Amino acid sequence: MKLITSLLAAAALSVASFVVPAFAQDKGTVGISMPTKTSTRWISDGETMEKLFKEAGYTPDLQFADDDIPNQLAQIENMVTKGAKVLIIGAIDGTTLSDILAKAHEAGVKVIAYDRLIRDSGNVDYYATFDNFQVGVLQATSLVDGLKKNFAGVKPWNVELFGGSPDDNNAFFFYDGAMSVLQPLIDSGDIVVKSGQQGMDQVGTLRWDGAVAQARMENLLSSTYTDAQVNGVLSPYDGLSIGILSALKGVGYGSGDLKTPVVTGQDAELPSVKSILADEQYSSIFKDTRELAKVAVTMTDAILGGKEPEVNDTKTYDNGVKVIPSYLLKPVAVDKTNVKDVLVGAGYYTEDQINN
Ligand code: BGC
Repeated sequence: MKLITSLLAAAALSVASFVVPAFAQDKGTVGISMPTKTSTRWISDGETMEKLFKEAGYTPDLQFADDDIPNQLAQIENMVTKGAKVLIIGAIDGTTLSDILAKAHEAGVKVIAYDRLIRDSGNVDYYATFDNFQVGVLQATSLVDGLKKNFAGVKPWNVELFGGSPDDNNAFFFYDGAMSVLQPLIDSGDIVVKSGQQGMDQVGTLRWDGAVAQARMENLLSSTYTDAQVNGVLSPYDGLSIGILSALKGVGYGSGDLKTPVVTGQDAELPSVKSILADEQYSSIFKDTRELAKVAVTMTDAILGGKEPEVNDTKTYDNGVKVIPSYLLKPVAVDKTNVKDVLVGAGYYTEDQINN
């Protein structure tokens, strides 16, 4: 009897030691909805969160929506049905999620807007992002630096403006930040926008599509620059910058008398980093997506632990229904003088990745 009891106890113990940690580990499912895989940043955001959530004992459900709005809605709906406790959403179109978020709210699901603000819904709890206005300020400051450096003898400078996707709230912050630097120079006559195209309604680029930006640059060159040269282009994102540069190269910029204009960017994507080192793209903005992923994971852990997540901005991001408590990270401008040091120093890329 004694033997049986101790055998049973041992069996119970071994079952317990096998099963208990697995249960103890499972802190629940977190839905991570990223907009697209066409830009490497979103892949890195998604995969970093996936890894950190696993390490913290959660079950991440990571989905990419291929820049297709119905697809993103279906993926989020599925996450709610499967019992996600928190949704972390990088929206394709920040205005299309109200219905699904109402359902999520009814089911007690908390929502973190990731990088892009979700608009027109009261069911957004927190926002993790970068200082988006500052991104635009840094882009325009770098554009002006480049004009001073590379086009010192030329005044006024001919500059064309590109904006991001008009369905992405960030695009307006980037544009407004940039114009806070550029508008005074336009007013003083130091900068001329020869096409006359200004304002997000004229310069926006739907879905951040590089091909759309390239086509618009080609049109600008043939309509406005047949007997003048363009000296600078405000580009809000590396994927657009590459398209813009390719339009410029297509008509001979970068050779002979046609100096490559100063072209800005954002995200420090590898092709753009290489382009900067090759004296083509002038600059980019480095946003450490690993840090943003960490903020989202820490926020989630606080929410599910019944604590208030840390925020550092409670004024800026009004989504049309309420001001969303936000955590803003700092963007960093990179150009040829610091791009390698900053990115390799941060461990974002290896020297090999950049050089090859
Ligand atoms: C992000 C940028 C990115 C852009 C295109 C924006 O919402 O903040 O980092 O370049 O989307 O993906």
